[in-house]
Amino acid sequence: MRDFYDILGVNRGADTAELKSAYRKLAKKYHPDLNPEDEEAEKNFKEVNYAYEVLSDPDKRMRYDRFGEAGVNQQGGYSGGFGDFFEDIFDIFGGGFNGRGSRGPQPRIGEDINFHMNLSFKESVFGLEREINLKREVSCHKCEGEGMEPGSSKSTCPVCHGSGQVKQVQRTFLGQHVTVGQCSNCNGTGAVIETPCSNCNGSGREIREETISVKIPAGVDGQSVLTMRGMGHTGINGGPPGDIYIYFDVAEDEKIIRQGQNLWVDVPLTLEEAIFGTSINVPTINGVKKVKVSKGTQFLDSEIIGGAGMPSTRGNMNGDLILRYTMEIPKGSLEIKSKEIKRWKLHNKVVDQRTLLFEHMSETFSKVEDSI
Ligand SMILES: [Zn+2]
Ligand SMILES: [Zn+2]
Repeated sequence: MRDFYDILGVNRGADTAELKSAYRKLAKKYHPDLNPEDEEAEKNFKEVNYAYEVLSDPDKRMRYDRFGEAGVNQQGGYSGGFGDFFEDIFDIFGGGFNGRGSRGPQPRIGEDINFHMNLSFKESVFGLEREINLKREVSCHKCEGEGMEPGSSKSTCPVCHGSGQVKQVQRTFLGQHVTVGQCSNCNGTGAVIETPCSNCNGSGREIREETISVKIPAGVDGQSVLTMRGMGHTGINGGPPGDIYIYFDVAEDEKIIRQGQNLWVDVPLTLEEAIFGTSINVPTINGVKKVKVSKGTQFLDSEIIGGAGMPSTRGNMNGDLILRYTMEIPKGSLEIKSKEIKRWKLHNKVVDQRTLLFEHMSETFSKVEDSI
């Protein structure tokens, strides 16, 4: 077997959190449920589990660091118990994954929690800190996850006589075959609880309602997933906890169109402004920018304000703010005198429309108290 640290891909000084995170990742990757009938994955899964079992136990880890694998095996770990004979038979015939070889209940990763959150467009521009309420499965506080009433005792399991494992003999057309499985009466612990904990009915787990504070980075969209490592349901039998995944539903803005990290707005110009040019003060995420509109601007010409788009959740550069000019071309005669154009300016509502747009942008692009 390879070095346990190599198996988990951590260095020898790795702390508990690093081990846990490496284990979680690899256990998920190689889990037999996700890799059916993949022997290589199953082998890796066993190695990863064993390496984590040893390294996550300070005492075993110390022995492993000093004496290598031999230092751990002496204690009747993975290779102990019923021995290789039964394991080999088991392997030939396949079958359930749990309860093979190792004694006692297997640690299991806690379940993940998926959470959906609605955000306004403005909230997505700046990010925010928000409290969410969720129900987490945690170790029972009364029995500390043991499942037994404090002060009560356990007795030897009558089914497996304390071994935690049961042998099953099955007759098939190939002849007899013997499998070793985890005892279902005691879940492989070898002992049964006489008085179950009154708080959790012996499950060792309880649901707790919790309020946690979530920092949502600026720039999230409907594709963003925020991961809070280790904040999911508590692991079972000492396994690491699951994660929280937060998915977002971000409301669209009626005037500011998001496209990736870029933002688009249609800015109305009067005909006079389009023909003779002007300058406009555009509210952006980076404050008001003065933008020159050149002479002879055409319908749907655009102007890019670099870096004034959506922030990146990964901390990269912001996107751009793109202004797209629109104007209403009067129908009819093309021989338009400038005086008449100026008069249209008074008669149409272009400037009012633009003022409303810029007020909206100014409001959207200014931080509020809970922005981060
Ligand atoms: Zn309990
Ligand atoms: Zn039993």
